[in-house]
Amino acid sequence: MKEIVKLTSDLIKFQTTKENPKELQRCVDYVAKQLPKRLHITKGINKGKPYIIASVKKTKKPKLLLEGHLDVVEAEPGDFKPKVKGKKLYGRGSYDMKSGCAIAIQLLKEEKEKDIALMLTTDEEIGGEDGVGHLYKQWNPRLVIATEPSNYEITIKNKGILWLKVTAKGKAGHGSTPWNGENAIDKLMDKYQKIKKMFPKPNKKRWTATLNLGWIKSGEAYNKVPAEAEMGLDIRYTEHDDVNKIIKKIRNLKGIKVETPQKQPMRITDIKEPHMQKLKKVFEKVTKKKARFKSTTGGSDTRFFAGKGIVTTDFGVKGKNLHAPNEWADIKSMGTVYKILKEFIKTL
Ligand SMILES: [Zn+2]
Repeated sequence: MKEIVKLTSDLIKFQTTKENPKELQRCVDYVAKQLPKRLHITKGINKGKPYIIASVKKTKKPKLLLEGHLDVVEAEPGDFKPKVKGKKLYGRGSYDMKSGCAIAIQLLKEEKEKDIALMLTTDEEIGGEDGVGHLYKQWNPRLVIATEPSNYEITIKNKGILWLKVTAKGKAGHGSTPWNGENAIDKLMDKYQKIKKMFPKPNKKRWTATLNLGWIKSGEAYNKVPAEAEMGLDIRYTEHDDVNKIIKKIRNLKGIKVETPQKQPMRITDIKEPHMQKLKKVFEKVTKKKARFKSTTGGSDTRFFAGKGIVTTDFGVKGKNLHAPNEWADIKSMGTVYKILKEFIKTL
């Protein structure tokens, strides 16, 4: 357990945000140094995003692939100095998900016999397309467990993601004579109000489609009629929604251009699947508590494998303040997740 806390703390010190390619590489190099030579190790880089894969056997079809990301979201410089306070480990990435990476690294470090592998990438926070979104094509594990922070819950469902870039065009003019122009912001806002009505009010947690207006770009001056306006919409959908119908309905509003920079399917794993049942059993044996399966709104990189029909789950430590100041991970839970996965691997 001490080793995992030390490893997590070391990983936190690397400022692995998206604008820091050198730090991403340094962090990957550090991981490589932790792994024993007997493992089959591949270090690579795809579109500027470094990654590392290690497997016990020389195969791309391991029985279990432990998967994680070393990148983190932006933080104050002080957040890259790990601190232990009582039962908590503070620092950017302590919870999401350098502790999870450390657990997976530790498990690979120790494993000599079982057919397991580790895949750590560095672009999950910006969509994962160049990391797992690239690597999954050549890898066919029987099971993927992402050691993402899940507060001990075994995640079986993630909502699908649809990002829309919506553009409205108007006609430029002087602010003092608006009748000579056509205000693109006005037009865009009018369409936005209509789109908003297509979704339930996102004022409480419910397993339904949601809409978030993430950004708007337009306008330069008080006295100009803007000729163009754009907005970014983040739509999350469930198995009860038809994503193509959502797009079609929005396109049918006319007078706007609708692009889909991101469209990701939902991830659904069957609770009855034997690996999930085994994980549940091991969890209950180790913790003496009832295992919980969970549906979650956020996406993770496991969706790429899930899209190929591979069984996937996110399972990991407890903590709080994901993507926020004062992020922390529960130290005891690091040891527990490690123990559960260690036991689980024995059953493979
Ligand atoms: Zn994460």
